[in-house]
Amino acid sequence: MTSNTHVERRKQVQEQEKNLKSRMSKIKHKIAVISGKGGVGKSTVTVNLAAAFTLRGHAKQVGILDADIHGPSVPKIIGLAGQRLQSGPPGIFPVSSSSGIKVVSMDFLLPDETAPVIWRGPLKMTAIRQFLSDIVWGDLDFLLIDLPPGTGDEPLSVAQLLPEMDGVVIVTIPSEVSQIVVKKAVTFARKLRLPIIGIVENMSGFICPKCGAKIDIFRSGGGRKISEELGVPFLGSIPIDQKVCEDSDKGLPFIIEHADSQASKAFMEIVKKIEAFLKAETKQGNTKKVESE
Ligand code: ADP
Repeated sequence: MTSNTHVERRKQVQEQEKNLKSRMSKIKHKIAVISGKGGVGKSTVTVNLAAAFTLRGHAKQVGILDADIHGPSVPKIIGLAGQRLQSGPPGIFPVSSSSGIKVVSMDFLLPDETAPVIWRGPLKMTAIRQFLSDIVWGDLDFLLIDLPPGTGDEPLSVAQLLPEMDGVVIVTIPSEVSQIVVKKAVTFARKLRLPIIGIVENMSGFICPKCGAKIDIFRSGGGRKISEELGVPFLGSIPIDQKVCEDSDKGLPFIIEHADSQASKAFMEIVKKIEAFLKAETKQGNTKKVESE
């Protein structure tokens, strides 16, 4: 690389960082959703938490950044598969779902849903920086960031680019195998100084629709146990519900379609706890500000 292109590149990054700061300042709360491993329902939880926020007085004020570059599944779950990002003079616009949630996903840039993304770390950092700096989210109350499973490049990039993140929600399933990886996720968040909002235990038992008996397919209670062990808040348990899977495949937010189900009620309780965390955090932040003035 010549020194000229080097200078240009640095200028471009500085410009992006300036844009990022000004765009992110319009978003009141940024929450990352992480999991130690894949398949525990992280994207499903992200979409349903976003939908729960819209139901709790934040309609059209919620966004989701699907930062799962290798396995973007938010568009499918929210009914936006096959959509494309539109751009205009101010930047790139998110795609709005039927429930009014603004979404940005790698999936909107891929030629088709079977195309894989083969990128190394630095390229992923560039993509995420661009996502965060070029997207015109507008004023939002909440931006949920769906991070890929594990503790790799993407969560690291997001943590570095968004130092003012409100916190992370960790999704797990009750089994012991999952608890081991949850410990890693908690350590990761702590090392990056990301506040831990709490742990959600997904796929926590299955209630038989015929006889009402509860069957603990992946066991249950593991999420609470690990929260107590690690000293982090426990946000709640979401049971396995066949309709969660059906609605996700149809692209409909489950908690809007099946508001009366036990799983939807669990989502709403979790959202209330997240709101309480944010309220306490804002209060604390204000007190700190006053003290330092
Ligand atoms: P991850 O993002 O962790 O890889 P997904 O959100 O893609 O996981 O979920 C994996 C699968 O599990 C999907 O088919 C989803 O519909 C299903 N699923 C997630 N949570 C539940 C639940 N509580 N009940 C039933 N199915 C669920």
